[in-house]
Amino acid sequence: MKVLKFGGTSVGSVDSILSVKKIVEAIEEPVIVVVSALGGITDKLLKTASMATNGDVAYEREFSEIVARHLDVIQGVIPDKTKRIEVQKQVMALLDELGNIYKGVYLINDLSAKTSDTIVSYGERISSLIVSNVINEAKLFDSRKFIKTVKQFNKHIVDFELTNRLIEETFDPLPKVSLVPGFISSSKEGEVTNLGRGGSDYTASILATALNARRLEIWTDVDGFMTADPRVISSAYVIDRLTFTEAMELCNFGAKVIYPPTIYPVYHKNIPIRILNTFNPTARGTYISKERVQDDSKAMIKGISSINDTCLITVQGLGMVGVIGVNYRIFKTLAKNGISVFMVSQASSENNTTFAVRNADADLAVRVLDEEFALERAQGDMSDTVAEKDLATVAIVGENMKRTPGIAGKLFGTLGSAGISVIACAQGASETNISFVIKLKYLRKALNSIHDSFFLSQYKVLNLFIAGVGTVGGNLLEQIRIQQPKLMQQNGLKLNVVGIANSKHAIFCREGLNLETCIDELKKNGQESSPEHLKEEILKMNIFNSVFVDCTANQAVSDLYEELLNNNVSVVAANKIAASSSYENYIKLKETARHRGIKFLFETNVGAGLPIINTMNDLINSGDHILKLEAVLSGTLNYIFNTLSADIPFSKAIMMAKEEGYSEPDPRIDLSGKDVIRKLVILAREAGYKVEQEDVKRNLFIPESYFEGSLNDFWRNIQGLDARFEEKRQQLEAEDKRFRFVAKMENGACEVGLQEVDAHHPFYELEGSNNIIMISTERYHEYPMIIKGYGAGADVTAAGVFADIISIANIR
Ligand code: ADP
Ligand code: ASP
Ligand code: MG
Repeated sequence: MKVLKFGGTSVGSVDSILSVKKIVEAIEEPVIVVVSALGGITDKLLKTASMATNGDVAYEREFSEIVARHLDVIQGVIPDKTKRIEVQKQVMALLDELGNIYKGVYLINDLSAKTSDTIVSYGERISSLIVSNVINEAKLFDSRKFIKTVKQFNKHIVDFELTNRLIEETFDPLPKVSLVPGFISSSKEGEVTNLGRGGSDYTASILATALNARRLEIWTDVDGFMTADPRVISSAYVIDRLTFTEAMELCNFGAKVIYPPTIYPVYHKNIPIRILNTFNPTARGTYISKERVQDDSKAMIKGISSINDTCLITVQGLGMVGVIGVNYRIFKTLAKNGISVFMVSQASSENNTTFAVRNADADLAVRVLDEEFALERAQGDMSDTVAEKDLATVAIVGENMKRTPGIAGKLFGTLGSAGISVIACAQGASETNISFVIKLKYLRKALNSIHDSFFLSQYKVLNLFIAGVGTVGGNLLEQIRIQQPKLMQQNGLKLNVVGIANSKHAIFCREGLNLETCIDELKKNGQESSPEHLKEEILKMNIFNSVFVDCTANQAVSDLYEELLNNNVSVVAANKIAASSSYENYIKLKETARHRGIKFLFETNVGAGLPIINTMNDLINSGDHILKLEAVLSGTLNYIFNTLSADIPFSKAIMMAKEEGYSEPDPRIDLSGKDVIRKLVILAREAGYKVEQEDVKRNLFIPESYFEGSLNDFWRNIQGLDARFEEKRQQLEAEDKRFRFVAKMENGACEVGLQEVDAHHPFYELEGSNNIIMISTERYHEYPMIIKGYGAGADVTAAGVFADIISIANIR
């Protein structure tokens, strides 16, 4: 025989009850079917009770919804009219009783534990009555008659001796289909009790054990026991097989799919459990048994679970060191006061013992421990007991962890690079569970980071915030959209764009924005935003593996990097302002990223998508020294000088550079040499020299006065230079020379200026907006290394940013 338990959602609607009918009727051997209350009803019964207790007359409306919900279900699941009317009558009789109890509670404004237990029992009593009339030949039983509890520390615990005997008697002979309400029980005195929230699983396990069932099946609304809570981790997947120990460890730590006490009785009798999906009955589900079967996955752990309701209590004092009996007194005191402890940690120095309890038990724990150690505290041997609330406990579980080195290292390394500090941790010698406590606000991020790092077999996620979605950012979004399926398939990498912003608005979506529509969405529905607001939202989202991508040219946006990096958000900047700001700031940002194990990348600051900074880093990392750099680094200026002709005067060439999208939004930044100076400073710094923008010697070709005033003034005045440039151009043409705006660095000394290069110079042939850089090093001495190509343009810059993003994915 088998015992099948169907949870709330499995009996929560007409369709699901009809699925239950189909599943049960297809089984040939005898079965006991245990059902929960209709999904959500237990909560609603309790809510209505609390409203009635508080004298809130709206409880009547809540109650009438409970009535309507049950009547609707009956209407849908029992087609035969006569039978339906009979069931309606029986159910209404129960609901009338319940209505009277609520009225009593409302009138006396009091709800005892006994009354509350009576009220919730109606959920399972009614659901079992309905389902027993749906499944052919099902015989309905009342579990209050055979599941018996006794009270211990304010809790009802099962009296197994009595219960087992009553079950054996009740189910002899065993009907083909027995229908049993889950969750509910009664005391020896006959008062209604229950097995605790989620307790229907336990009812089923108790029955399976007492009757030596072949198997216990838990039918629910997911395909099986998953690697993590699927409501938090979207990439969680079903675990094929678990051992009893693994399942016990996982559900004890909050994996809601099985009520924790369920496992022990069946484990004791070696009855396997299968977790199955009522809504997808052909899925294999999860098989839980004694045997440890090596599955195909290489995963070192089986699953992750968590409890968000955690308070850490610390008893401390130098007077504890080496004293025998302190822990005995701590735990005796807690036990006497009915406080359950779910994690303990004590360092070998023995000067403190820390343990985790539920937040609701915290104040009592502190009080009773302070009383217990009053004398020691008065003598100064021990300090006051300390409680830290609003924490969460996470456990990673798996029997494969035994004797496998490196798991704790990987776990804590992952948390470290997510910027999450571990407040306490514990691992027992059985090595099947490592538990640790963190701040509650980091829970989601911790679960995602750990899942990502231990169950990488599915795919890896990077969460991107993109600031600036104009030319470069817009292009980047498009490139990501097109490339995404390939990245998922070939590299197992998912780029989730979780936020985008322009100068005034922003939109965010933790699950990832739709890249086809997000820019329109930003325009239509974006919330008002500023750089500061953007930063706050990113930190609030506190999402794992996150990367801030700055495609703006804005100072205020670059000012956000430090705080973002300090919160373990990597930064990829097309914006040059930060890397070319004060040397002190540049170094601080790089150091912060290094300390935190994340990245601050800005390859596109120089030469757009050309691999200049990475190449220099590779040279330096392999022991080379960069001695000299000579480069044309302004795609805009090069474009302008290459475009000048008899027909195109200087001012028009500038305008064309802007229209082509080569120049900075304000072309004066290019023409004043500022853009090149920034780039040169960044290169010199990456080459290992301490350089500030002021250190760069500049030989400019436009008088300073042209940069004063507004941008409009500039456009008006600049035409005044056309004639001078035309004259110079003709002269150069005659000498077969060309203008190049050259940046130079030699042993740290930097300069920029306009040069006239002849046909033998490597810079002479440099078409369009191209950049060129010659790198002379100790190794590349006689013939410098040359990198040449498009040095400006939205698509190549976006591609460079994209490459930086991908390199972040590869390092984690
Ligand atoms: P039922 O009403 O069938 O007893 P529950 O709501 O008690 O169902 O438990 C099933 C739910 O548990 C799933 O819908 C899922 O959201 C949640 N859950 C939490 N952790 C896990 C996990 N590790 N694997 C599967 N489900 C989990
Ligand atoms: N109906 C009860 C609850 O919601 C028991 C159960 O569903 O297992 O807690
Ligand atoms: Mg449940």
